[in-house]
Amino acid sequence: MGNTELADTLTDWYAGAARDLPWRRPAVTPWAVLVSEVMLQQTPVARVLPVYAAWLERWPTPADLAADAPGEAVRLWGRLGYPRRALRLHAAAVAVAQRPGGELPRTVLGLLALPGVGDYTARAVAAFAYRQRVPVVDTNVRRVVARAVEGRADAPVTRRDLALVEQLLPVEAEAAATASIALMELGALVCTARAPRCPTCPLRATCAWAAAGKPELDSPVRRPQAWAGTDRQVRGRLLQVLRESAAPVAAERLASVWDEPIQRARALDGLVGDGLVDPLPDGHYGLPGSKVRQSAPARARSRQSEALPLARSTGGASGMSTGLASPRKVNFAASPSPSTSTTTMLPGSSVP
Ligand code: SF4
Repeated sequence: MGNTELADTLTDWYAGAARDLPWRRPAVTPWAVLVSEVMLQQTPVARVLPVYAAWLERWPTPADLAADAPGEAVRLWGRLGYPRRALRLHAAAVAVAQRPGGELPRTVLGLLALPGVGDYTARAVAAFAYRQRVPVVDTNVRRVVARAVEGRADAPVTRRDLALVEQLLPVEAEAAATASIALMELGALVCTARAPRCPTCPLRATCAWAAAGKPELDSPVRRPQAWAGTDRQVRGRLLQVLRESAAPVAAERLASVWDEPIQRARALDGLVGDGLVDPLPDGHYGLPGSKVRQSAPARARSRQSEALPLARSTGGASGMSTGLASPRKVNFAASPSPSTSTTTMLPGSSVP
């Protein structure tokens, strides 16, 4: 199958098989495409759909999000996972809002200049929002190309794939953009990682991997990351408390979500270090900047003043220190008794 033939076959199949997803509809804005692409990284479509809808209803333009506190982005992000993505979208929105016209850049290079926008996302927005002839390679695309073209079970995504995928795209930009999304859709719906549905695949007659008898992967299979008991699980629980609270939260409230104090402290340290949680001067914690927002100098002074007591209070029963490396670090293991309660907030929340 020639290059154009593969793209034509996929495009014909896509016309009848594509899912009706809101970020693919004709009137969708580049901002909405950016939001969808960031949310879809490592998160299934079904979980993204309700958050995407709520996000764009509340923040239909980058300027709308930029005018709100980053903590509100973290709050609405809910349980999508990897919540730093919410902060990255907020940072990008602030940068876009400062551009003339408040519009996203149209080129890959311009998009890459936005904070938090990486190579894949920039390419996806250029191709799917601006309909440019730009190769976009995610794990689905890589797998389809590995199987249909190279005769391999799968392959890791590398920068060399961009040239390979570009060769498969039609010359005309609009057709290339459609072929790009069709490749991705085939990987999501038909040529899946675990159970490719070859009998229904539009490429079955020419697929190199099927023709070769489907040889097994020539590299070790990466096992999915464990979740239960990890710091990621603890971080998720801590953030959930803050998202569900309109006001900053005391340390005791956070302590109730995880029994193991050192792991809990480490997880909270990580959230604070990532800017997802603000430690407040009164010892509470909140989402970044949600309600009463102090001026930057005042916040800096607050953090400086809180750093000393935190550092001095390190060394719980285990004698393990968790608060010395950074003034934003939090000592959870040595959290005070209820009578001297400490509160925790999502970034930007108010002091109660
Ligand atoms: S024939 Fe099977 S392995 Fe080949 S591209 Fe289609 S689904 Fe994937």
